[in-house]
Amino acid sequence: MIDLRSDTVTRPSLSMREAMAAAEVGDDMYGEDPTVNHLQDLAAEMMGKEAALFVASGTQGNLLGVFSHCERGDEFILGARAHTFWNEGGGATVLTGAQPQTVPLEDDGTLDLDAVESVIKPRDIHHTRTKLLALENTIGGQALPLKYLPRAAELARRYGLGTHLDGARVFNAAIKQEINVSEITQHFDTVSFCLSKGLGAPVGSILCGKRELIKRAHRWRKTIGGAMRQVGLLAAAGIYALENNVSKLAEDHRNASVLASGLTALQGLEINYSKSQTNMVFMSLRNHDSHKLVDFARENGILLHAGNPMRLVLHLDVSARDVNHVVTMMESFLAC
Ligand SMILES: *Cc1c(COP(=O)(O)O)cnc(C)c1O
Repeated sequence: MIDLRSDTVTRPSLSMREAMAAAEVGDDMYGEDPTVNHLQDLAAEMMGKEAALFVASGTQGNLLGVFSHCERGDEFILGARAHTFWNEGGGATVLTGAQPQTVPLEDDGTLDLDAVESVIKPRDIHHTRTKLLALENTIGGQALPLKYLPRAAELARRYGLGTHLDGARVFNAAIKQEINVSEITQHFDTVSFCLSKGLGAPVGSILCGKRELIKRAHRWRKTIGGAMRQVGLLAAAGIYALENNVSKLAEDHRNASVLASGLTALQGLEINYSKSQTNMVFMSLRNHDSHKLVDFARENGILLHAGNPMRLVLHLDVSARDVNHVVTMMESFLAC
């Protein structure tokens, strides 16, 4: 099956599995798993951060990111459609006791900085203490404009706020912009990113940042039941992903662009593939029901999610040939 539902569906390759089988392990709760320690050192170095923590998921990375900056009664600012606000079960609010303050997202995925400034609360007894500005990159598959990041960081600094990046797909942004990922992450105190999406690892994310913030996150990881033991088996997959699969994201972006052009040429569709888009193509059907398309696609060996727009995600396990097959399938669907 060609699975375009998400880049989370990637399966570990044979050589990744070999690296996992060969991993040296120890009890990570005692800091004694050499493979976890290696992964954390490698991730911190790539991101240009003092320290890193291996966590179970991107959701846990963002939750611990908020925990590292905020206490009960504090506040964090984020996009109204940010993953952390919309798709993480409300954990960053429910578990930290900090209040989210949302700001509408602009078309390019940024938060208008005047709008952000206008919701930062004065330090007085009436208000929550605004502590954190959290951004997401990529967002809806789009890389945030590079010039925006220092401006957002400067605003946060001016008001004494910490900064967190939900960088689940931050390597996609860096590859798209042809820069070292640290040029993006340098603007944030903490950054979380996923090993388990386009990078192809089966499980895991990293939270990295300033040492004292990661130390707090480490304690809260234990509190929420996220401490693990001989988890070097999974960390080995993460190391393999960072060493072998980052540059391959460029192929996913090429495939997304080819898919977008192929679909744009067909009648009956609206395709959204912006200049800053990385590995996703958004597609709306003019006269058809997306559920019918999902069934038709499945019969033709392609997995899609229904929706309006539909999100098609390119990744490690989708080839250039597969992209041609998807366009052909869409042509037949629209003809019937
Ligand atoms: C996938 C994703 C996460 C976290 O996902 P998990 O499924 O918890 O690993 C966080 N933020 C964004 C933007 C994501 O796409």
